[in-house]
Amino acid sequence: MSSSAHPRRGVCLVLSAAPGAGKTSISRELLATEAHLSLSISATTRAPRPGEEEGKHYFFKTQDEFAAMVGEGAFIEHASFLGRSYGTPRAPVEQALAAGRDVLFDIEWQGHRLLRAALPDDVVGIFLLPPSIRELERRLRHRDQDSDEEIALRVAAARDEIAHWDEFDHVLVNEDFQQTVQAVRDILHAARGARARQLWLGDFVAGLLGE
Ligand code: 5GP
Repeated sequence: MSSSAHPRRGVCLVLSAAPGAGKTSISRELLATEAHLSLSISATTRAPRPGEEEGKHYFFKTQDEFAAMVGEGAFIEHASFLGRSYGTPRAPVEQALAAGRDVLFDIEWQGHRLLRAALPDDVVGIFLLPPSIRELERRLRHRDQDSDEEIALRVAAARDEIAHWDEFDHVLVNEDFQQTVQAVRDILHAARGARARQLWLGDFVAGLLGE
């Protein structure tokens, strides 16, 4: 039975973690290797980092532009992180889910909570833990474009983020990159098969019982 013959609803796969826990490289690997999975591109009021591109990493907005989008209801969720605003544009998510395409979200805990409230049957939440805080600090220091002050703020934010670990469906300790990618992949594949996403099953069962 091919998936094209049996339409399904897409999965909202949320990957949250303290910054530095490795979620960006894990997302990148999944997006490169999983068919039917695309990244939700957020809007933010923070400045682009070197190498970040408009429309690929983020949609970079001014405070006024962001506020106007909030007013228009353009975000499915939005939250503030270290004084900057971040939000998930609504339309691409709704279109993807209805078309049976899965969406990956790299958002923090408040965004996960809000997205789950907006789409309770669609969200599968994964939280990634670093093996240790020392390792997390080491990874944050390697982002040399950030100042010491920015790094200290990010370590504090990381601790705050980790405190929300138990709001997620799955929690993985990111010790080994390949193993973590495989674990996320397994969670995605299982979620695709969940009853609520198999839009064809109701008719199929009604047909079976009517035979
Ligand atoms: P960064 O500035 O390092 O790119 O992101 C800071 C934090 O904001 C990260 O934890 C990231 O996952 C989160 N984030 C990125 N986009 C969104 C979004 O659309 N909504 C929410 N709630 N958080 C986001």
